[in-house]
Amino acid sequence: MPHQTIFEKSRRGRTGANLPECDVPRVDAAETLGAGALRTSLPLPEVSELDVVRHFTGLSHRNYSIDAGFYPLGSCTMKYNPKVNEKTAAMPGFAGLHPLQPEETAQGALQLIYELQSMLAEICGMDATTLQPSAGAHGELLAMMMVKAYHAERGEAHRNIVVIPDAAHGTNPASAARCNFKVKGIPGNDSGRTDIAALEKALDGNVAAFMLTNPNTVGLFESDIRRICELVHSVGGLVYCDGANMNAMLGLTRPGDMGFDVMHFNLHKTFSTPHGGGGPGCGAVSVKKILEPYLPTPHVVKSVVGDQATYTLDANRPQSIGRIHSFYGAFLLAVRAYTYIRTLGARGIREVGENAVLNANYIRARLADHYEVAFDNQVCMHEVVLSATRQKVQSGVRAMDISKRLMDYGLHPPTNYFPLIVPEALMIEPTETESKQTLDHFIDVMIKIAEEAKDNPELLKTAPHNTVVSRLDETYAVKNLDLRYEPIFTATE
Ligand SMILES: *Cc1c(COP(=O)(O)O)cnc(C)c1O
Repeated sequence: MPHQTIFEKSRRGRTGANLPECDVPRVDAAETLGAGALRTSLPLPEVSELDVVRHFTGLSHRNYSIDAGFYPLGSCTMKYNPKVNEKTAAMPGFAGLHPLQPEETAQGALQLIYELQSMLAEICGMDATTLQPSAGAHGELLAMMMVKAYHAERGEAHRNIVVIPDAAHGTNPASAARCNFKVKGIPGNDSGRTDIAALEKALDGNVAAFMLTNPNTVGLFESDIRRICELVHSVGGLVYCDGANMNAMLGLTRPGDMGFDVMHFNLHKTFSTPHGGGGPGCGAVSVKKILEPYLPTPHVVKSVVGDQATYTLDANRPQSIGRIHSFYGAFLLAVRAYTYIRTLGARGIREVGENAVLNANYIRARLADHYEVAFDNQVCMHEVVLSATRQKVQSGVRAMDISKRLMDYGLHPPTNYFPLIVPEALMIEPTETESKQTLDHFIDVMIKIAEEAKDNPELLKTAPHNTVVSRLDETYAVKNLDLRYEPIFTATE
């Protein structure tokens, strides 16, 4: 009779272990336990060690990652993360710390937090930083809590409106609403930037803050930013910078100098911690002096006596909004970001910004004849937003079809349908870590796909064709994740 198994790699009698002969008397299990307690069959695979290694290595290769290939997911800054960051984060002195051990035994870690706080404040032109929030959205929430506390303390608790451009990341209005602010959306202008007249109209004595991403979510620099900040300040509001796009400005310009009062960084984007799949993250928040008293506790501070520096966790901050994270946040992310900044230095940090912008504009220039570029093909910052409207009109091919076809060529798709204000958006962020050869390969494939959209649109509408699974119902797939391995066939002996 054939040996039936649900494991296609299993072969009867094959084993991965070679155990010595049993040298204790055998017990009859059925007699000892009673026959009813025993299974008559146990479906386990019979495989060699090499079979197991190849099976799991094969499964791991089904994951796409930045270590496997180009990952141009706009707004997410999927840059290469230098492995030295992992090395320092794994050092036993950092990785083995207990969050409750006495401060005097954790001086190195506290010094690292303190120095990273200071470096981030310097990079963005602000006065103080906290590393507590565990995501960009968490940083936004903290900032809105501090804005609320600031106005309340000045006797202006009636300020209940936060103004946000239509193009903003969805987390911005969500964070403001979570703090009981009313969100007032304003449209952008024809050049893809803040419409000054619409902003002026939205501003009055009830406005608590204006939240703006710069460079904004269509990858364009807000050239009127000084004027924008002046206008918001003139009615007593504060200006928040969603700093998820900080990669474009590193070493080149600083939100603090533009007039922003508070911002968040995504250390897991700009400062090179691996991310995707939901974490871990760090949404460090930097503030100007006026908001410093409201920073969450405990805050790491430095005191110097003679030539002896001591770092302490300051919990005695009466105006603080309190804790927003257990202990001190995701500390090992801070180690990675610190390593990254120290290995690059000031000059290297600036080159990150320069090359991120150069790479995005190279893609824009070479693809401009083949796809629409949102807002008239202007010079962009670190990302470029294309639109598949031309393909949609010509042959009904949508942005999603182009992305699915990219997967057939082994490339990760760009961000689709964000920002919402650009129809059929394909948002491409190459990052600074990609070579000209990689960019050229991506561009050549995108040009080929534009040709395919004309000649054989069905090929795109039914893509992907070469992946492990074909096109999924994305909404259903998110709600009903199925990550089990299932064999493709049932083997017989
Ligand atoms: C990624 C991102 C966020 C949110 O950051 P999370 O860490 O995912 O919470 C906010 N705004 C913009 C523009 C982003 O790109």
